[in-house]
Amino acid sequence: MAFEGLTERLQNALSGLRRKGKVTDADLRETMREIRVALLEADVNFNVVKDFVRNVRERAAGAKVLDGLNPAQQIVSIVNEELTAMMGESDVPLNKSPKIPTVIMMVGLQGAGKTTTAGKLALKLKNEQNARPLMIAADVYRPAAIDQLKTLGEQIDVPVFEMGTDVNPREIVRQGMAKAAELKADYVFIDAAGRLQIDEALMQELVDVKEIAQPDEILLVVDAMTGQNAVETAEGFNGRLDITGVVLTKLDGDTRGGAALSIRAVTGKPIKFVGQGEKMTDLDIFYPDRMASRILGMGDLLTLIEKAQKDFDEKQAEVQMEKMRQNTFDFNDFIEQMEQVQNMGPIEDLMKMIPGMANNPALKNLKVDPKDIAHIKAVVMSMTPAEREDPELLKRPSRKRRLAAGAGRPVEEVNRMLKQFNQMKTMMSKVMNGDTGQMEQMMNAM
Ligand code: GDP
Repeated sequence: MAFEGLTERLQNALSGLRRKGKVTDADLRETMREIRVALLEADVNFNVVKDFVRNVRERAAGAKVLDGLNPAQQIVSIVNEELTAMMGESDVPLNKSPKIPTVIMMVGLQGAGKTTTAGKLALKLKNEQNARPLMIAADVYRPAAIDQLKTLGEQIDVPVFEMGTDVNPREIVRQGMAKAAELKADYVFIDAAGRLQIDEALMQELVDVKEIAQPDEILLVVDAMTGQNAVETAEGFNGRLDITGVVLTKLDGDTRGGAALSIRAVTGKPIKFVGQGEKMTDLDIFYPDRMASRILGMGDLLTLIEKAQKDFDEKQAEVQMEKMRQNTFDFNDFIEQMEQVQNMGPIEDLMKMIPGMANNPALKNLKVDPKDIAHIKAVVMSMTPAEREDPELLKRPSRKRRLAAGAGRPVEEVNRMLKQFNQMKTMMSKVMNGDTGQMEQMMNAM
């Protein structure tokens, strides 16, 4: 997950302060030095870091923080606010034209995720606003970009306008816009040309396409993994095209996060969305305040709750909760719940959104192996419908042996899994009935 190293270093720097009752000027200087190094190592732009450190220092001095109550806490909160400000204060929605269609031009270097992001955004608008988008395939340089967009279009059921790779992109866009009018599309996505690097021919083509399509939004797609290069790319595109927003992709990867922290400050243009995976639904609105709190290891409960609301079927959840309360939770519910949680993303990433958990030593090396989950599923799938509904039947050794053979797992593993299931069931029933003693014990043991 992105930002891991940065989170740890910032927390270390700030926890040094927290341990002190009184914070001296020298303590503050030392902490700010550590924060500065942490940000530079996370690949944040040098000038951005300089401004950030100066702002925090000035605010701490101005507010006479060191003489006040809880100086350490106040400094953490100043750092949090400045980190948020560096990324842009609040989320900025997609521009919308007062008349249809709203035209969104997607630009970026090859491989940044431009084509994928066009599909993700079109799907988002379709799902959330019932929109009728059209995507125009104008990236005639990257081999297979057009086929990729067509495949995406079929997958999400959005029409794609294309004229192959032998036609000038300017002409493709001209005809594509006419097609959009004919279809009464309310959003048009132009998958414009990308290149391996910025060059004059590319920029001129994009400037021409901008002139022809008069976009309401020019979204620059950049790969977060490329760090400082992403910032340079953003400056290059913004200089010629006056972009209106940025999408930062691959934030699910192991990035140091510098790009996310610098792009807004360097270009003055907001990050509107972040890509967090390869699936068509892996696109999220960028909230600077939530991101800052995540970077500081303070968790991101809001996002976690939203994810749960989006991915969980409410009725199903209610039925399951009632079964937990009644202690009648069975293996069908178990599999259903496991699948729902899996849809939300890697468990270890979800856990880190809980405040205080990001640097919990118990979670540090936690890796939930998808293979383990597959094994559990295989065992459940080997059960008869009657067994799934009534786990009591599984007390018989002959049944356990049959499950083990069916799932191709050792009997001991089946035993262990059944035992864990029963423990979990008992605990859930207690918690649901208001007895939280067990739960606390478990958390304390972590
Ligand atoms: P384009 O050349 O800019 O159009 O790039 P593509 O859309 O083809 O994306 C390049 C690769 O990056 C593809 O394999 C995508 O699946 C992948 N990709 C795009 N966005 C993300 C993201 O947010 N996370 C991850 N992990 N992969 C992504």
